[in-house]
Amino acid sequence: MAFTLPDLPYGFDALEPHIDARTMEIHHGKHHAGYTTKLNAAIAGTDLEGKSIEDILANASQHGNAVRNNGGGFYNHSLFWEIMSPDGGGEPTAQMNISKAIDRDFGSFENFKKEFSAAAGTRFGSGWAWLCTDSSDKLFVTSSPNQDNPLMDVADKKGTPILGLDVWEHAYYLNYQNRRPDYVAAFFNVINWHEVTKRYNDANPGAMQ
Ligand code: MN
Repeated sequence: MAFTLPDLPYGFDALEPHIDARTMEIHHGKHHAGYTTKLNAAIAGTDLEGKSIEDILANASQHGNAVRNNGGGFYNHSLFWEIMSPDGGGEPTAQMNISKAIDRDFGSFENFKKEFSAAAGTRFGSGWAWLCTDSSDKLFVTSSPNQDNPLMDVADKKGTPILGLDVWEHAYYLNYQNRRPDYVAAFFNVINWHEVTKRYNDANPGAMQ
């Protein structure tokens, strides 16, 4: 079974003014589509066909750069569309487990926002900023180069990503040009905390129930 480009869960213009429609259209229809096509080409006829993307990424170092880059690109963007919403933004409500976990592991939402924004702002060149859970259910912020992510065996810090921000220039250049910090600040207006808390709960079935 080949991997399929997932539909955007909202229209191209749904995240405006924070992320513009033209950027979304190119980002999903060209970049994400390209990673998906190239991933399928890279695994065609190999023993990776039929494996889950998580399994493939867990052994990224063994598969060569085409699988690492395009497999990462396929997974990262699939997560990225889901953790944004036109109804998003603000802070997770007190009823959401992720809210309690952020307070527990960062001290406050503001501290988390500062740390995440710094990770996104200081990632040199192309890459991603992440909020992850580790194997003891603790949250941490990290960043990765290119299309790497914390599921990969090559990651500096491994974990399960539950929130990710694309800081490649293709994600923001049309609207923000070189002003990455403005794009990072705008991202906080569209974060889908329902989806992030769902992913947190899925990664930590016993946590803070
Ligand atoms: Mn991208």
